Amino acid sequence: MGHKIVWGGRPRPPPLTLHLFSRNPLGDASSKPKSNSKAAGEGARPTWAYYSDSVTPASQPVPDTKKSDASLYQFFAPGGLLSRTHPNYEFRRGQLQMAQAVEQALEEKRHLIVEAGTGTGKTLAYLVPVIRSGKRVIISTGTKNLQEQLFHKDIPFLEQALFPDGEGKLKVCYMKGRNNYLCRKKLYDLTDQPVLSGLEEIEHYRAIAAWEKVTQSGDKAELASLPEASALWHKLDARSDNCLGQKCSAWDRCFITEMHRRAMESDIIIVNHHLFFADLSIKQQAEYAPDAGILPEVGAVIFDEAHELEDVAGSYFGVSVSNARFEELCRDVEISLQRNHMLSASLSGALKSIRERAPFFFALLPQGVGRFAFENRREFMEENGDEFLGLQQSLTRLGSELESLPSKPEEVFNFGRRAQELQVQLGFLMESEDRNTVFWIERRRGGRDRQNVFLQATPIDVAPILKTCLFDKLECAVLTSATLAVGGSFEYMRRRLGLEHARETVLPSHFDYENQALFYVPPDLPDPRTPQFVAKAADSIRRILETTRGRAFVLFTSYAQMNDVYQRLLGELEFPMLLQGDAPKTALLEEFRLTPHAVLFATSSFWQGVDVQGEQLSCVIIDRLPFAVPSDPVVAARVKAIDADGGNAFFQYQVPSAVITLKQGFGRLIRSLHDRGLLVLLDNRILKKQYGKVFVESLPAYRRTTDMKQVEEFFGVG
Ligand code: SF4
Repeated sequence: MGHKIVWGGRPRPPPLTLHLFSRNPLGDASSKPKSNSKAAGEGARPTWAYYSDSVTPASQPVPDTKKSDASLYQFFAPGGLLSRTHPNYEFRRGQLQMAQAVEQALEEKRHLIVEAGTGTGKTLAYLVPVIRSGKRVIISTGTKNLQEQLFHKDIPFLEQALFPDGEGKLKVCYMKGRNNYLCRKKLYDLTDQPVLSGLEEIEHYRAIAAWEKVTQSGDKAELASLPEASALWHKLDARSDNCLGQKCSAWDRCFITEMHRRAMESDIIIVNHHLFFADLSIKQQAEYAPDAGILPEVGAVIFDEAHELEDVAGSYFGVSVSNARFEELCRDVEISLQRNHMLSASLSGALKSIRERAPFFFALLPQGVGRFAFENRREFMEENGDEFLGLQQSLTRLGSELESLPSKPEEVFNFGRRAQELQVQLGFLMESEDRNTVFWIERRRGGRDRQNVFLQATPIDVAPILKTCLFDKLECAVLTSATLAVGGSFEYMRRRLGLEHARETVLPSHFDYENQALFYVPPDLPDPRTPQFVAKAADSIRRILETTRGRAFVLFTSYAQMNDVYQRLLGELEFPMLLQGDAPKTALLEEFRLTPHAVLFATSSFWQGVDVQGEQLSCVIIDRLPFAVPSDPVVAARVKAIDADGGNAFFQYQVPSAVITLKQGFGRLIRSLHDRGLLVLLDNRILKKQYGKVFVESLPAYRRTTDMKQVEEFFGVG
């Protein structure tokens, strides 16, 4: 991969030592707290009980110590520093327990896995020990919302609490993927030789060019006027494909260089899982060369929203080649060589050959829609081996033509590397016999009636990879989320992620679920796999919504079912109905928040990372137990591999993974101590099937019923 070239030879700054003192205002974490050590569960306690029952009663006043001497207890406890800084702060036992567990993991250099339900306040529970530790730490999250919360809310709040006089600011860096930043070189090249299509691109170009002169970060989030799907931005962003690294004329002013420099000087680096695993896979491919990747070495990584790790890691340790990559390579080579007056007839011939062979090769691939397994690769190669070789040869030809160019500009070396990378990856996708990899094809609709075809290879089991590349190498990893345990155990997560040795804890909830939520399963609906289900389910939904007066999310496991039910209820409901796909997600959520009694019909993207507090969301209805689609190529390969290994894929993989998803979906309802509402599962297999118990035992202690009368009573109806 070319990323090593990008950052190759960049000198590392000296180790971070200077401001450790200033960022350790709560006391030296390497020594025991000076007071309350017994109450904080440290010292004489056996280690297995370090997080249990470690809080003194709220009635005991907290001594007003200097901030630099404060222990975790004095920070989080009633009357402690946090409650004095924030008038609405409520003491949460689970939050303190989590902070203690994280602090111990950091001190002892051990991994920790902790399930902390909504309302625990887990970001502060890990941030405070991180700051006390004096270590440089990466915090990786699943969603942008959480990254923004950490950077714009939680960390400034802690700075205010810990450094009220502003004397010891934290060094924090918020990093996004490279495609969020502007590549100055691309913009300057475009300025020299504008190739813009249409008025819209000209308008976008003007906005970007004016902004480039003033922006400090180059982060497109600052450019609110630029539409999310701007085609011009895609041509100008700083993704690594065309990056020249240190040889770039704009290197010194490059936003990526600057981001890298800031990360090297930061104590806390906030990233998302995609950036983290992209970086890790680059490091792995570069065999951990010191300058590979963009993230610095750290003492610990906190993975928040850690339930997403397997999927994200799988995508970055796999390989993906699309028809679009061939087109983009040809386009970039052509534009560059034209600009440099180097486009010879033989180079044009090489490009023409790729432009003919690539679409032809991709058109030969097995037909199908969406994601499907590429099972007959061997037969395919027997029949179409010549076309495959032809495409490979045309890449070789392009590489040689580029190589033989005299006194070529730096970017030409990059094109050669990209051609070679495509060749190697395509070879792997078509010829590899790796037993831990599933090969599959995905077809997606691109713009302007074109189809993007992706050839994909995904590890069936990421556990051995993560064990070697991540957990064996890191001193301390903390995995946390509201949904990690199944039936109170982390076995599923640990096995899927290769996390062999870790302390673990499930924290008590801060919410009174029994009184705040009623969980209703209609007992008489047909099995959701039968054709009769949809009509009856729609009827049941209508009745429930009349009782709740709308104010609901109706969440589906498939688009087809969502559309079907939506159509059946259109005109039947007296409440405003919103449908996923009718507007962008954030706009739909905003409309839901602002529209009294609204009902939102949605699928998987609304099952997590969505936060609507208050009465406006008083009901969450889920159509069926969210088992992953068994025909999905990656799911099918995992199931097959577990069964072939003598395991029971249904109980070891499909049920636990559905449990985590169901917990996420239901987690939308109760977001604060004052929320109250109804959860409905229209799939009564949870009551009738043996495995249903695992779901029931994994959910919070909601009050449960199969009686619609109790639902009506809950809402004071009837
Ligand atoms: S180093 Fe140059 S080519 Fe690479 S992202 Fe920065 S400005 Fe663009």
